[in-house]
Amino acid sequence: MAKELNGIYCAKCNVQMKLGVLPKYEYEEGYPLHNVQAYRCPKCSKVFFSEEQAKEMEARTAEVKEYSFGFERKVTISGKSLVVGIPSELAVHLDIKQGTKVRIFPVAKEGFMIKPA
Ligand SMILES: [Zn+2]
Repeated sequence: MAKELNGIYCAKCNVQMKLGVLPKYEYEEGYPLHNVQAYRCPKCSKVFFSEEQAKEMEARTAEVKEYSFGFERKVTISGKSLVVGIPSELAVHLDIKQGTKVRIFPVAKEGFMIKPA
């Protein structure tokens, strides 16, 4: 948890800004983040981010980007089955390990989705 900084003042209102959480904020256009920590002016609602908060948003945006673009994998073959490797980041994120049962759902004609069973 970030430590609250003292003495961040709104340049416009000269009022001390308060630490809060934004329900949604786009650090980079098109990549909305949720529950972002920020300082906010109680008068004009202008937001300010500390260096630490900006770094965290940058890292979170990179993660969102990766998930929205997807991971490219080559289909291989094992016996009679086609095999697609699950990226380790995703496996950890979804708690999929060797032996975990998953379910494959077709998604229209676009592809399929895999969910832990
Ligand atoms: Zn202000």
